[in-house]
Parts: sequence; C-alpha cells; structure tokens
Amino acid sequence: MNPVEYTASNSRMHGVARISFEGGARLMPARNRYDQELVFEEAEFCARRHGKATLELNRRAMSIHTASSGLPEACAKCARLANVLFALDDDILCRRCARKFAR
Ligand SMILES: [Zn+2]
Repeated sequence: MNPVEYTASNSRMHGVARISFEGGARLMPARNRYDQELVFEEAEFCARRHGKATLELNRRAMSIHTASSGLPEACAKCARLANVLFALDDDILCRRCARKFAR
C-alpha cells in the first residue's frame, strides 16, 4: 500500500502523520491503529534509507535514527534491542514502544 499524498493545507488536520527526511517529506493518514502501524513502518523505512528521519504525529515530533556503529541499541522502556530508534522526549525507544507512547 502506497502512502496517500495530501496537499499541504491538509497537513495540519488531525489524523495525518508527517514523515520528513533529507530531501523530502511524506504525509500519511493516521486515523486508526492500523494506519499508525503503517506510518511507523514507513518512518522506520525512511530512517534506514536516509540515516535519520522525523515523524510528526498527534502534535508530537520524534526523531528517528539508525543505531550508531551498526550495533543495535536498547530501548529505554522494554530493553529490546533495535536497529532503528525513535527519540521521543528524553527517551530512546524501539518502534513498538514509540507507537504506544505516541498514541
Ligand atoms: Zn521498546
């Protein structure tokens, strides 16, 4: 499933997530849990491809980066090792915890 393209004027609407990365940005619907799961998957994909990315969802912004030196890093909440980390407030989280936290 491809991300739906929205015009800029719709980006402030509730239920829309914005993923930005070097050289571009993409808007995706985030109305329900399923949408949000796709958003987080896409955000992780963008971070892998570009090294880092920013995800704005529900008026929160989190920066996403790949583990430095290629070694997995531990999630601050569940201690699971992850190759792509989501920085939310002061915590570095795995995708699962970031998704839970951003809801
Ligand atoms: Zn976690």
